[in-house]
Amino acid sequence: MIRILIVEDEEPIANLIRMNLTRAGYQCEIAPDGELAADRIENQSYDLILLDIMLPKLDGYEVLEYAMAVDIPVIFLTAMGETSQKVKGLKLGAEDYIAKPFEIQELLARVEAVLRRCRKTDRRLHFLDIDIDTDSRTVQKQGKPVDLTVKEYELLLLFLRNKNRALYREVIYENVWGGEYSGVGRTVDLHVQRLKKKLGLEDHITAIYKVGYRLTV
Ligand code: CA
Repeated sequence: MIRILIVEDEEPIANLIRMNLTRAGYQCEIAPDGELAADRIENQSYDLILLDIMLPKLDGYEVLEYAMAVDIPVIFLTAMGETSQKVKGLKLGAEDYIAKPFEIQELLARVEAVLRRCRKTDRRLHFLDIDIDTDSRTVQKQGKPVDLTVKEYELLLLFLRNKNRALYREVIYENVWGGEYSGVGRTVDLHVQRLKKKLGLEDHITAIYKVGYRLTV
């Protein structure tokens, strides 16, 4: 299981992030100040750290040094409009930043992207009779290989990492195809249909009116 440390002194924000990441299948812990964060980083193992900058005791830039010493990727949570903060964070070695306040979907997408980039995602995923090996990018159903296109494969991973969550068409599009979703065209729908058919997921991937799709467990 992927472990994420949330370093944030504003309790409602920390709790909101934890709730959503937990729902998405991540294991989360919160550190409410920089010193506790440094302690945790030194004594436990994490796959990713979400790091606020203005923190009691040690600030985010100082905590970043602890994270980098043990090679844990960091996403900074920056205050809105603080361009200097994000530039400094990225220069010092953070993988990404998210400006507060942020949409939860954006947070999840960025977490997912950084984990993938840093190869911290689970290498083997399993759902019903489907097995995915993300090292070899192979998919099997009932032990037999299934050929998926690159986009179908990305789509499948997105669904599996967001079980029971409503995925907006634009989020699906941005994650799988990259770039802005124009709101027109049936690309997403056609690919979802083909994926469902290939893997027999007709009963598990459901359309949500005016929103998108959800993989239900
Ligand atoms: Ca703060």
